[in-house]
Amino acid sequence: MKTITIAKGDGIGPEIMDATIAVLKAAGAKLNFEEIQVGEKVYLSGNTSGIPAEAWDTIKKNKIFLKAPITTPQGGGYKSLNVTMRKSLGLFANVRPCVSYHPFVNTKHPTMDLVIVRENEEDLYAGIEHQQTEDVVQCLKLISVSGSERIIRYAFEYAKSNNRKKVTCFSKDNIMKQTDGLFHRTFDTIAKEYPEIETEHWIVDIGAAKVANRPENFDVIVMQNLYGDIISDISAEISGSVGLGGSSNIGESVAMFEAIHGSAPDIAGQNIANPSGLLNGALLMLHHVGESETAIKIQNAWLKTLEEGKHTADIFSPNLSSELLGTKEFAEAIITNLGKKPNTLKAISADNVKPIEVPIVRFKASKKKELLGVDIFVDAEISPDDLGEKLKQASNDSSLDLLMITNRGVKVWPNGFEETFCTNHWRCRFLMPDESVISNQDVLNLMNQLNKEGVDIIKTENLYQFDGVKSFSLGQGQ
Ligand code: NAD
Repeated sequence: MKTITIAKGDGIGPEIMDATIAVLKAAGAKLNFEEIQVGEKVYLSGNTSGIPAEAWDTIKKNKIFLKAPITTPQGGGYKSLNVTMRKSLGLFANVRPCVSYHPFVNTKHPTMDLVIVRENEEDLYAGIEHQQTEDVVQCLKLISVSGSERIIRYAFEYAKSNNRKKVTCFSKDNIMKQTDGLFHRTFDTIAKEYPEIETEHWIVDIGAAKVANRPENFDVIVMQNLYGDIISDISAEISGSVGLGGSSNIGESVAMFEAIHGSAPDIAGQNIANPSGLLNGALLMLHHVGESETAIKIQNAWLKTLEEGKHTADIFSPNLSSELLGTKEFAEAIITNLGKKPNTLKAISADNVKPIEVPIVRFKASKKKELLGVDIFVDAEISPDDLGEKLKQASNDSSLDLLMITNRGVKVWPNGFEETFCTNHWRCRFLMPDESVISNQDVLNLMNQLNKEGVDIIKTENLYQFDGVKSFSLGQGQ
């Protein structure tokens, strides 16, 4: 028997967890359950992380965690426990299968069967945000070579293990050439190692539109954290109901399984929630711990129950459903069907699911790093021409030259447009006239001079080249 950690969470969490555990036990899953308290009550007791220290110990000891949704209280500086857990436990891959169950559950996309593999630790979810001027705040988008490689390898390994034929990458590398460019390039490099799998890339905006319109054209889609968060909710919803989808969060030692949806406080305590999302999360968990036989038995019984038209309120339709069931009664109907297979929906068999190894990161990040210059960000209530003049004079003694000034990324000096709206947040780029390599001391000397002349420096970014390739964006219009 394996002991796993469970948390019943908030809102509908306790109801759907009880229903899920009832099904797992009836199917003979070889599991013991150790419960921890996390979420709203812990937050409101004054613990802003939402999780007590002893709960971390239990999660790390048992390594497998089945979690019902949690309510993050609004305001008051409470950090999302879901994001904290994914990042603290190194749960780098968030896998979200989105399948439609036509003709038993209403959907516009009868043959939809796709899996979103979402990077779970990086991107704007690093949560590094600052107010820099009266007018401007920033959020840093951090993407690493190793993080991109790991999630993309995982997507390909997942496709291989699950008999999936195609892996698609979404990115916005036409705009974010460094961050999303790195992700796309990594995808292209790794794709070559899997010649048996078809690959494609879409810019995320048109890619998302295509998912919404023709999801049946997609198989596995890998993307960064924010895009994955948004597009997996859309995918789950258009498959039939957000209440159906489960997801896994995979790390090197710990794995967490959950429903895609939240705690649905609007329907909590009424025995009307659909437990299928958490149950599907639990099935991913059973496969993960090597209990695929039990997972398959439950999944077939669940599909059979959907086919019989025994539905919870979120998927109930007078034309398709035979009986409206509560959360508990729906779980009982699944238990009654254990051992049966669906007639129309595709039954699951052992040979289409194989365990996945967590991929080893092989790429070396870099290489020869050389400093070429610096972007100095300045807070000033001034015109671009006056700022250009002031900075040129202030940096007179420096070996670095002022090359350009941008405002929110658009070049405004030299020769900017009068029409460009400027806020009090300027990026001022300094390089050597011949673009030769400099030292950190050159940057410090420059900053010292600007500081003496009363320039309000709010941030600096060094401009590097790696292996002779300039690794920073140009200003728009440069
Ligand atoms: P939600 O997913 O909880 O609910 C959205 C809508 O879907 C609601 O109308 C709800 O009734 C319905 N719904 C969701 N799950 C259902 C189910 N199983 N059966 C039937 N209907 C279902 O999203 P929300 O309202 O934006 O968020 C509520 C709370 O959940 C927030 O505090 C949010 O922070 C939290 N949340 C938690 C997680 C998580 O723990 N992983 C994920 C998302 C949101």
